[in-house]
Amino acid sequence: MKTGVEDTSLKRPDLLDNAAIAELLAREADQASGQIRRACRRAARNAFLWEYEAYDLWAAGKSLTELKGIGPFLARRIREWLEKPTTLVSPPEVRQEFLTLTRARRVLADHPNFSETLQGDLHAHTCWSDGSGTVAEMAIAAKQRGYHYLAVTDHTKALKIARGLSEEQLFEQVKEIGGVNVVLAEKAVDLVVLTSAEVNLMPRGEVDLEPSALCGLDLVVGSFHSALRRTEDQTERYLAALRNEATDILGHPQGRIFNHRKGLRADWSRVFAEAARLDKAVEIDGYPDRQDLKMSLLRLALKEGARISLGTDAHHPWQLGFMDFALAAALLTGFEHDRIINFMPVQELRRWSSK
Ligand SMILES: [Zn+2]
Ligand SMILES: [Zn+2]
Repeated sequence: MKTGVEDTSLKRPDLLDNAAIAELLAREADQASGQIRRACRRAARNAFLWEYEAYDLWAAGKSLTELKGIGPFLARRIREWLEKPTTLVSPPEVRQEFLTLTRARRVLADHPNFSETLQGDLHAHTCWSDGSGTVAEMAIAAKQRGYHYLAVTDHTKALKIARGLSEEQLFEQVKEIGGVNVVLAEKAVDLVVLTSAEVNLMPRGEVDLEPSALCGLDLVVGSFHSALRRTEDQTERYLAALRNEATDILGHPQGRIFNHRKGLRADWSRVFAEAARLDKAVEIDGYPDRQDLKMSLLRLALKEGARISLGTDAHHPWQLGFMDFALAAALLTGFEHDRIINFMPVQELRRWSSK
């Protein structure tokens, strides 16, 4: 069995990379209070999206304040760490197994063929729910990335905080997507916006919209957004969600958030084996704070034969770039194109989801 590519991404193991700096910032936050605590926590999250390794800027004599979220105070602190590297302890579970953008990009650059035939993104929001872009703006951003499809997966009605769509609103959105697709076809743009939704899964695996509102969609992502801090085993919840005929993809399965929530516990081998049996996909949500499934669970999913789906969970057009996190995680854990549904051409994907 393939076990993933070798990660030669750590160019300078003698120096602290952005992941190590994020951990030091998070620990600094744990010991601080007030404004410094907030600044350190924010900077720890930002470190995952920095375009450069802090050590490269530092070695080039540039100011670390070029990095998002870093003012003069934190720049001084990071310089101290870089000048005198401390012994690192492993992060607590709530901060484990998160890739930085710099590392993800190095992994992908080492294997340029891997991403070349990616067909599209299967998890993105628009201003119909809590995203900021219109359907057309998201479609343009997807085309700029060379995609052939983009699934619009807005939230549904039980998620009121995200202005989730009712059955009627979803119906209206599908009409708008149809109009955008007509314009794309008229302009000979080879991109299809797929009709979809990120339906809210209830703690027992039911969905929050009438099945009749979902059956005409190209595909359906089902995600848990509540009861995510339960500590007892949640295997039955996942099995019920997978067995629900309305869903094709289990979105951000564990429900973890960087430095905030560890995510749910389950007998993951059983969950992935059931996904494989039903031929449903489990997601790698590439949103930097989520990165869910994480890599240790992806290795289990691969072993059990489950398909995966890559989605950025973008809430702005620029966030389609979060695909790098999902692709790098898939690559590092040994997934090949035939188990990743985003490499299916659109007709094949539609056949798969409508089976
Ligand atoms: Zn979600
Ligand atoms: Zn989402």
